[in-house]
Amino acid sequence: MVSPGREIMNKVRCAHCRCLFVPNHRIKNQRYCSKKECQRARKSAWQRRKLETDLDYKANQRECQKSWSARNPDYWQRWRAQNPEYGIRNRALQKVRRSRRRRRIAKMDALELHSKIKTGTYYLIPVTVEAVAKMDASAQKVLLISSA
Ligand SMILES: [Zn+2]
Repeated sequence: MVSPGREIMNKVRCAHCRCLFVPNHRIKNQRYCSKKECQRARKSAWQRRKLETDLDYKANQRECQKSWSARNPDYWQRWRAQNPEYGIRNRALQKVRRSRRRRRIAKMDALELHSKIKTGTYYLIPVTVEAVAKMDASAQKVLLISSA
């Protein structure tokens, strides 16, 4: 027997839009609701994961894209002609990326210039107790203790 509250209790949160939905009982571990954009997000997440983990799939996808490009050599040229605003946006973004990179390099030089750490051998000791307990490799704060 199914109690009236059961349906509400079985609702899950969509991994994309975060809304609550009742999963289809025929789909195991359903994480996305049935909305069009959520299903699209599910597919692209699946494909991203597949490309990362399945080398055959990745090679096959690349092969498909290559042969498609060979069959449609002027597609992107035509697309750019039809979407001139994209070229403008792209050039602007490129400019931002370039100046950001330049600034980062400038900052790095300044840091190196003012660095007071002397050349030598050091022990890297994680600062937090939790980091020591876990020997967390991602611990960002470390103490430099001279071995001399
Ligand atoms: Zn959703």
